[in-house]
Amino acid sequence: MLIAGNWKMFKTRAQTEAFFAEFRPPPGTRVVVCPPFTSIDAAVGRGVPVYAQNVHWEREGAYTGEVAAEMLLELGVEGSLVGHSERRQHFGETDHAVALRAQAALDAGLRVVACVGETEEERQRGDTEAVLRAQLSVLDAHRNLIVAYEPVWAIGTGKTATPELAQEAHTFVKSLIDVPVLYGGSVKPDNAEEILRQPDVDGALVGGASLEVGPFAAICEAAARVAKL
Ligand code: PEP
Repeated sequence: MLIAGNWKMFKTRAQTEAFFAEFRPPPGTRVVVCPPFTSIDAAVGRGVPVYAQNVHWEREGAYTGEVAAEMLLELGVEGSLVGHSERRQHFGETDHAVALRAQAALDAGLRVVACVGETEEERQRGDTEAVLRAQLSVLDAHRNLIVAYEPVWAIGTGKTATPELAQEAHTFVKSLIDVPVLYGGSVKPDNAEEILRQPDVDGALVGGASLEVGPFAAICEAAARVAKL
């Protein structure tokens, strides 16, 4: 069971230090945090593995605004998200670019959480499986790869997929690629346990609720309870 906190573009270095002064991951579950690039070195070495929120596919080069896997490894970063829906929506990230990022990061020795998921319109049109199939078709299973199923309509909206809907999507994802699958989309302390109890849900990618120690610790504790079952 893995709980990954995606801090998005939140938390300065000082706020990162304040978080780790209070946060103690509960035993019995794996926890990682994904701070913004500028807060990574304030997060490394605090007892919780640190992942980046994105990573470029080249080792170096004229790619303004990008960061390479080697640069992250040098800081003590253990993994990276790729293909988050906010990257796809706001920054034109394509399936092809996501595949390049994932492969380069895995080759460099990082773990990778590759995010996939359908928009509300795609679900209403009945295209969920086609979208997931296309997004996953560019990824190859790897021992350090995890997929995060994050329905876009559930991210930051307070609308969570029902446990049954999450389970159905995770089963479909696992029929296409044999890797662990996290659920993401408005996971909160009060809904975490029933989602995490689904047999094909291997953990959660948590945005908003990972920013405060109390709610994030409560979600990690829910994961530890489920892992014991
Ligand atoms: C996310 O950022 O991946 C996410 C799922 O956000 P939230 O938990 O806020 O919906």
